Amino acid sequence: MIAETFEIQSYGLSDKGRRRARNEDSLVLDPAHGLFVVCDGMGGHVGGEVASGLAAQAIVGFVTARAADEWPFERLPALSEPADILRNAALLANRRIAERITSEPGLARMGTTMVAVLLLAGGRVTLAHVGDSRAYLWRQGQLRQLTSDHSWVNEQVQMGALSKSEAERHPFRNIITRALGTPEELSVDVIEETLRAGDWLLLCSDGLTGMVDDAKIAEILATESDPRAACDRLVGAANAAGGDDNITVAVLHAAPARGGISASGGRVRESL
Ligand code: CA
Repeated sequence: MIAETFEIQSYGLSDKGRRRARNEDSLVLDPAHGLFVVCDGMGGHVGGEVASGLAAQAIVGFVTARAADEWPFERLPALSEPADILRNAALLANRRIAERITSEPGLARMGTTMVAVLLLAGGRVTLAHVGDSRAYLWRQGQLRQLTSDHSWVNEQVQMGALSKSEAERHPFRNIITRALGTPEELSVDVIEETLRAGDWLLLCSDGLTGMVDDAKIAEILATESDPRAACDRLVGAANAAGGDDNITVAVLHAAPARGGISASGGRVRESL
């Protein structure tokens, strides 16, 4: 077996876009903990940014500390699996938003999506998601969407009632069927992957995917090696297409390592 050597380089960018007065997305880049999160808030007035900010804060707090006194549920789970860590971080975020709604009824309609990744040794990644923010894997010229949107149009596509292109133009395309901030039990999707040399992992809010199609995203990633330039071009493409919504992207690039850093000892280079 040939050992692949690469280092994971990361970058992220959140942009207001060209039509919205505020940026309701939240972005977390925490390479020291291998944690990257995109949240897309919703809910009128300041609700969207409050919800996405609370979620980002709760997820970071949980993943980096997992302190018992921060845990509002009956029993602190004994967590060793990254999937459990992210799932419980999402449950905590959900609870924090629901609590805030209780104390501030003016924010009753707020909620947020979440797509989060934990980067582990050897390029292994665990992803968790709720809502229509997405994760994509670009590998050897092919772009694959790892997440399946929790949205009304995607449910129709899954049932065969709408085609993918009809879904993209549908007036209900912004209706999401799962979000953080619900008093009901929350179901969190978890996906595991292992990055290989040359791969790009992309997290994004729908301000990117609503404006830029997969072919264009793939083209940008195929022709970039620098994470910062990739983010600039992705956000630039969304704005060039109209920038109707807030645009947030985070990328992890498994760059072939010049210094011979092995995947198992892969380090993360941060640039923000
Ligand atoms: Ca959005």
